[in-house]
Amino acid sequence: MARYTGAVCRMCRREGQKLFLKGSKCYSEHCPFVSRGYAPGQHGQNRKKVSEYGMQLRAKQTAKRYYGVLESQFAQYFEMAERKSGMTGENLLRILESRLDNVVYRVGLATSRAEARQLVTHNHFKLNGKKVNIPSLLVKEGDVVSLSEGSRQSEKFKEIEETCGSRPVPMWLDMDRGSFTAKVLRMPNRDDIDLDVQEHLIVELYSK
Ligand code: SF4
Repeated sequence: MARYTGAVCRMCRREGQKLFLKGSKCYSEHCPFVSRGYAPGQHGQNRKKVSEYGMQLRAKQTAKRYYGVLESQFAQYFEMAERKSGMTGENLLRILESRLDNVVYRVGLATSRAEARQLVTHNHFKLNGKKVNIPSLLVKEGDVVSLSEGSRQSEKFKEIEETCGSRPVPMWLDMDRGSFTAKVLRMPNRDDIDLDVQEHLIVELYSK
């Protein structure tokens, strides 16, 4: 599975917002975005006028990086969003948000989406009682995501629980920490998604 292996904190600085790509570091005082919240590189602190295309591109990159999705898959999600009824931009965010790795991260069973992706790949989770190892699976209303029984006592998940156990869970998900089980109560609305992006700019970019 292809993935980005560069310096991820640069992405937050490039996009001008925290993308929460480094687990507990993102919530600590060591987050580089707190001390250097300007774009990386020699001219990062210079203010310059951003073109319309530049804004559209940044919006797409922000969403792509936030969810850890590569270009081709992001384009596929956009096509899927276009085919659904309703606002394409909102549909796109809803699809991204309903990825299994995102759900695992959102309910606090991983410190970052990248870690969630790895844990899913390593067979630690079940979807509706069956083992799954595909991070890009899209959950739907009524689905149940649970940590496999064999993983519940592992040191790894004890550490994750200590770090993420108190993180707020979005309203569209219900998490039972005692049984490490999350239920999808409904599909997320735009208000449930805390990503600071103007999704209509992404639609404009793909409509060119
Ligand atoms: Fe972004 Fe997290 Fe790095 Fe901060 S620590 S810059 S939020 S990836």
